[in-house]
Amino acid sequence: MSDLYPQQQLSDSKDCPPPSAHYQILKTRDAMLGEHLQIRRALPNRQRRMIGAWCFLDHFGPLPLQNNQGMQVGPHPHMGLQTVTWLIAGKILHRDSLQNEQIILPGQLNLMTAGHGITHAEESLADDKGMLHGAQLWLALPDAVRQGEPAFNHYAELPMFTKKGVTMTLLAGAMLGAQAPTNVYSPVVALDIQANNQAVLELPLNPQFEYGLLVLQGRAQLAQTALDVGMLMYVGYGHQELSLQLPPDARLLLIGGEPFAEEVLIWWNFVARSKAEIYEASQQWQSLQRFKEVSGTRLPRIAAPPVTL
Ligand code: MN
Repeated sequence: MSDLYPQQQLSDSKDCPPPSAHYQILKTRDAMLGEHLQIRRALPNRQRRMIGAWCFLDHFGPLPLQNNQGMQVGPHPHMGLQTVTWLIAGKILHRDSLQNEQIILPGQLNLMTAGHGITHAEESLADDKGMLHGAQLWLALPDAVRQGEPAFNHYAELPMFTKKGVTMTLLAGAMLGAQAPTNVYSPVVALDIQANNQAVLELPLNPQFEYGLLVLQGRAQLAQTALDVGMLMYVGYGHQELSLQLPPDARLLLIGGEPFAEEVLIWWNFVARSKAEIYEASQQWQSLQRFKEVSGTRLPRIAAPPVTL
């Protein structure tokens, strides 16, 4: 996923309210990724830049692919972050500058660690005429590892459990006695929640974590608050548990983590600590330095927007 939009606002974590113990309802922003794929951007949000180390959250689809090409994101760079891709429906082909070529299917997870720099492309396949529906998240890398070597991991299997008719998949971190294999660098968690029938779900929370709950499909009720698609519920630190009322077919994504202690700057596809780093990375991408090429894709390379910081 790439931030393709002309308005390239700098997201600076110090401009935002600090992590708190409160609940807060955030609205996602609609945007188009290419000609057909609508995304709802939940993070960064004007009211909240990050939840733990999670610094970006796009919900895309559901989009039927009979008459369009779905996701077509050409080669673009990343640094200072990890991308986490999770599908509910469809398939996406990932290619990167480490020569990885991986189709991701629902129930699997792609984790790309950008470190000091990586390039990737993501596309729907021409023979895929089903639905495309999923989420892409970014994790800010802590300062100690953010300049490290890039890497890519595909996790074909993740811990799954069913409780009171709700199927949950652990995408990252530890929860409910399980530990995800996902190679992350700060204390975080991510959980896919799928109601098979009407259910009341009680989930234990880590009081040191702040959380976000995003509705991917259907709706949910948290205490007196009704949550719909297009809403991200922030749950601040200090809570022991979360009680959700779920109708059949509700699908949610729970993310959480220890409030990220470092101030980060997010601009375009880069997570940094200073404007100078962003200028440098942008110029290096434009002059074909630092970021290696992706082979095998016919999609055009995405130009960096002008840096106006
Ligand atoms: Mn990307």
